[in-house]
Amino acid sequence: MKKIIPLFLLLLICFSCENQSKSDTPSQNESAEMSEDKRQEFAIVIHGGAGTILKENMTPEREAEYQAKLEEAIRVGYEILKNGGSSLDAVEKTINVMEDSPLFNAGKGAVFTNAETNELDASIMDGKTLNAGASAGTTTVRNPINLARAVMEKSEHVMLSGKGAETFAKEQGITTVEPEYFYTENRFNSLKRAKDREKVELDHDDKTAFYDPLIKDSKYGTVGCAALDKNGNLAAGTSTGGMTNKRYGRIGDAPIIGSGTYANNATCAVSSTGWGEYFIRGQVAYDISAMMEYKGVSLEEASKEVIQNKLTNLGGTGGIIALDKTGNIVMEFNTAGMYRAKMNDKGELTVGIYEK
Ligand code: ASP
Repeated sequence: MKKIIPLFLLLLICFSCENQSKSDTPSQNESAEMSEDKRQEFAIVIHGGAGTILKENMTPEREAEYQAKLEEAIRVGYEILKNGGSSLDAVEKTINVMEDSPLFNAGKGAVFTNAETNELDASIMDGKTLNAGASAGTTTVRNPINLARAVMEKSEHVMLSGKGAETFAKEQGITTVEPEYFYTENRFNSLKRAKDREKVELDHDDKTAFYDPLIKDSKYGTVGCAALDKNGNLAAGTSTGGMTNKRYGRIGDAPIIGSGTYANNATCAVSSTGWGEYFIRGQVAYDISAMMEYKGVSLEEASKEVIQNKLTNLGGTGGIIALDKTGNIVMEFNTAGMYRAKMNDKGELTVGIYEK
């Protein structure tokens, strides 16, 4: 009997220890369930450009206009995804809303080149097939993201430019407009200011100022979208007028796959905005995906490293929006602000303009 009592006590202690550890650390099934909880069935994120966007330079009315348009745009994509539509459709249709608004530097609100024209760039990528399409330097295509998608789906090419891209657009029945459609007073005044500043700076013989009119005080305003659909497919797209006062047929990062846009079901979908030359040199969108693929890091870690360290050390400014295959969303930038919005599968909406 004397031996039985300590044995009973020992068993009792062991039993209570086991119960204790169950409540502290979840079992395998429980932790799978927990990460399932965080996994989004579908999700969407957009940007409307990054730059020197400061609250003190903004009126409450203007701020409300941006917020309303961002919300209108993202809700279009959200509805498509909610109804089982594809991430490609969500990206294209969401971008269309922003392209049709003069608020953003894409479509209707495209900035002016040095020659007082509007030359638009866009790209789109399908994360499932790694197929991609882009158009560069068009002057008559109303919604360049539609052309980019047609290049991806209806041609054997990835990027078309200038007159050839416009001929292809017409052949595909894509809406074209007179170049004057893109005239907006605001953007034209920005060009005039950039040119005046350039003259002053060149008069002072400061050669380094050559590119400055393109960036100082710019609210870049490019638009982009990344989406995950119910079938687990990722897609991303970007559309822009480029940078004010650009010349010599300059093409930025927006139509370059890997710089302005990238999507891969195995990693993430990314759209960039900022000083394009740096995004091309840094292969920003692809770099984020590559870090996830080769180093096994999370989307957050990869985006932070690429934007806050690599791009910043190179001297580049701007940001990205991105999401991964679980619908986890990132909005990373090194500028004073970035127009942005995100929605998860529960319909929770977040809209932002200034730094976090
Ligand atoms: N990245 C664009 C370009 O360099 C500009 C922008 O994002 O606002 O053309």
